Amino acid sequence: MGGKEEVYVKEAFDTNWIAPLGPHVDQFEKDLATFTGTQYAAALSSGTAAIHLALIMLNVSTDDFVICQSMTFSASANPIRYQGAIPVFVDSEADTWNMDPNALEDAIKFCLSKNKLPKAIIPVHLYGMPAKMEEILALANKYQIPVIEDAAEALGSTYNGKACGSFGQLGVLSFNGNKIITTSGGGALIGNDAAAIQKARFLATQARDHAPHYQHSEIGYNYRMSNVCAAIGRGQMEVLDQRVAQRRSNFDRYKIALQALPGVEFQPELGNSFSNRWLTSLTIDPKASHGIDREKIRLALEKENIESRPLWKPMHLQPVFQSYPYFGGKISENLFENGLCLPSGSNLSNEDFERIFQFLLPFWQ
Ligand SMILES: *Cc1c(COP(=O)(O)O)cnc(C)c1O
Repeated sequence: MGGKEEVYVKEAFDTNWIAPLGPHVDQFEKDLATFTGTQYAAALSSGTAAIHLALIMLNVSTDDFVICQSMTFSASANPIRYQGAIPVFVDSEADTWNMDPNALEDAIKFCLSKNKLPKAIIPVHLYGMPAKMEEILALANKYQIPVIEDAAEALGSTYNGKACGSFGQLGVLSFNGNKIITTSGGGALIGNDAAAIQKARFLATQARDHAPHYQHSEIGYNYRMSNVCAAIGRGQMEVLDQRVAQRRSNFDRYKIALQALPGVEFQPELGNSFSNRWLTSLTIDPKASHGIDREKIRLALEKENIESRPLWKPMHLQPVFQSYPYFGGKISENLFENGLCLPSGSNLSNEDFERIFQFLLPFWQ
């Protein structure tokens, strides 16, 4: 927490405004829209709920195709199945570790060969690193397919100087406990389409028609953010820039210490991109590093009670998704094999770094 969160939460308590909705929700939505340079935001109970509502508003239903980056957290893809639609997974490219535009076009052509235009494309900004949005949007425009931009990990990242989350028809943010800022749990849908964001708010509050009695003409969801969580979010927005600076400083420390070691490659940042460096992640090529591999390092750190993690396991390799179509090669698979997320908390101290390097560096000595 930063500092002002408690003040805003106290305000919610003092005014007895504990229910869903309320003044903090309205203000948090304004803060998010201002920060991302979008016109509207709907504060929701999770990023997953935001993706689900985005799919619903794009009329995704049974047996529709939705194209999704394979290298991601499962919440990017699960809502496709909530709608009974078919995920079509796409590999990553080596430059950003995100959706490969060439494989994306192959996936689109596959869908067209089945006489179905995909209903949406879901690129992800992995670990805060912007995807190649220019290329992805060019294909989306060429084939007239809406983009749902999964920026759950990328609040504070920019691409061509514009905020991640602001490029797609709809953008998705998450404030889960592990993200760069948190409301303990929450998410948001952002965009410039007033009607779409209004509709998301409506569906997220049980789709209640405007009537004095309870009347429903559509199926609704209980997906709205509470006024208490939004109070935390308002305080967190005030320290977001600071959090990004802390995460980027973590990355710099790792980079200075490790970049010259054989076999080590950090997640690249292209010239037009600015990553929040949510997690510092790297790959270790066992062929170049004389047999040192990701897993040996992870286990050695674990013994010292220092947590590191493999990169996300691609969706096309997941038991629950492996029967769905996949386009691309082995980039995401290799990232999973050789990739490691290092300790990346915003509050890592000098002593923490000393301890991490004490157990990390001897591998190369
Ligand atoms: C965290 C995350 C989500 C889901 O957000 P929740 O708020 O946890 O539901 C979706 N996509 C990606 C890439 C994420 O990292």
